[in-house]
Amino acid sequence: MRYEAPETVESAAALLQSTAGARILAGGTDLLVQMRGDVVDPTLIVDIKRIAETRTVTEEKGGWRIGAAVTGAELKEHPRLKNVWPGVIEAANLIGSTQVQGRATLGGNLCNGSPAADSVPALIAAGAVAALAGPRGRRDLPVEDVMLGPRRLALEPGEFVVSFLLPPRPPRSSDAYLRFIPRTEMDIAVVGAGVSLTLDAAGTITAARVSLGAVAPRVLLVAAAAQAIVGSRLDKPAQDRLEAAARAACAPIDDKRGTVEFRIHVAGVLARRAALIALDRARTA
Ligand SMILES: Cc1cc2nc3c(=O)[nH]c(=O)nc-3n(C[C@H](O)[C@H](O)[C@H](O)COP(=O)(O)OP(=O)(O)OC[C@H]3O[C@@H](n4cnc5c(N)ncnc54)[C@H](O)[C@@H]3O)c2cc1C
Repeated sequence: MRYEAPETVESAAALLQSTAGARILAGGTDLLVQMRGDVVDPTLIVDIKRIAETRTVTEEKGGWRIGAAVTGAELKEHPRLKNVWPGVIEAANLIGSTQVQGRATLGGNLCNGSPAADSVPALIAAGAVAALAGPRGRRDLPVEDVMLGPRRLALEPGEFVVSFLLPPRPPRSSDAYLRFIPRTEMDIAVVGAGVSLTLDAAGTITAARVSLGAVAPRVLLVAAAAQAIVGSRLDKPAQDRLEAAARAACAPIDDKRGTVEFRIHVAGVLARRAALIALDRARTA
């Protein structure tokens, strides 16, 4: 097995294209576990952490660009991000333990291709766009279009995620992410829900995005759930509509960690609670 740590996006893309079975290494908290478990056996590992673009957080056109290899711990310590995107930051910081958060990245969480990945519903609710680079150049892809199903991505051979762009935030906007796990931490989401919304001066929701994780083969953007609350002040009827729309979107698996019925029920509950938290935050944002 070969290990390379290129310093530019272009050389990383060329390396990835050069060798069948090459894998990106970011934090390694999924990849190394899968290598130890003989799930994957890469011939070439391309470590992207020396590429400056993947490791920085910068303001861009009123929004925020977050490098794909920035860790959850680094996001949490950023002086301004958590005020603008508290839901994204709390989702990233639910990943694993303190030790795991020192390594785990947003890019790795998305590209591992798990429908239960914690940061992905929060990124989708945020309207984040992934900046991709590959042998044929660069392109942007909304995060909801990156994952096609378990371990299946819309990335072309040799393509990788360089960064994520979080859009500019109007006043009175905020977000929230909640997950259900059978224990208090270090577990995989049985259901995850991300909500981002914007209020007008009277407290009416003018825009919203709702995303659900672990209830379908890919993380879902649930447009009907967002439509259910736009134009409302999230009163009880709007909450009920949100719950119903979230549940209607679910097509979960049945396993020992949660039955189909349980996951569908919890998806509605978490979507409503995340919306209420986002609403509360938006009032003072
Ligand atoms: C103890 C433990 C607890 C965990 N708890 C959670 C949890 O609570 N919630 C959760 O969601 N996950 C959890 N995970 C899984 C893992 O930590 C996360 O998915 C993490 O975000 C992966 O990021 P990474 O940087 O370590 O990815 P890596 O392991 O480096 O990479 C993961 C995969 O993505 C690919 N990849 C990485 N970066 C890119 C990129 N920029 N472009 C294209 N492909 C890329 C790699 O080739 C690999 O296939 C846990 C893992 C462990 C070991």
